[in-house]
Amino acid sequence: MLTNKQKSRQRWLDLAPGDTVMVIAGKDKGKHGEVLRTLPTAGKIVVRGVNVAKRHVKAGQSAGGTKAVQGGVVDFEAPLSYSNVMLLCPHCNKPTRVKHSTSEGGRKTLECRNCGELYERIKRTEVQ
Ligand SMILES: [Zn+2]
Repeated sequence: MLTNKQKSRQRWLDLAPGDTVMVIAGKDKGKHGEVLRTLPTAGKIVVRGVNVAKRHVKAGQSAGGTKAVQGGVVDFEAPLSYSNVMLLCPHCNKPTRVKHSTSEGGRKTLECRNCGELYERIKRTEVQ
């Protein structure tokens, strides 16, 4: 366990739940899916259908954030490193990094570094 004081600020991740990402490294390289959760402090991200692991649980134990009602084997998406995924641009359909800029109205915008199109994030109201 780490015993030193928390010195790092929370990292800002370019990705948010609802975004579609492409896995660029690791065993699920080439897969793409929807971001389910982000773990900014750990620099990790959970993507639907990616990095699926099985866990044997007893009833009432939790696995991957879901509480098991019955015991048994459950599939869950394990968090993978944020650096292993890239945002999949809906315009050019390529994995890309995003550029942050601010529009005239002071609105923060995201831009695809590949094709230059604005990336409109799907607003999600539900809280994880
Ligand atoms: Zn693009």
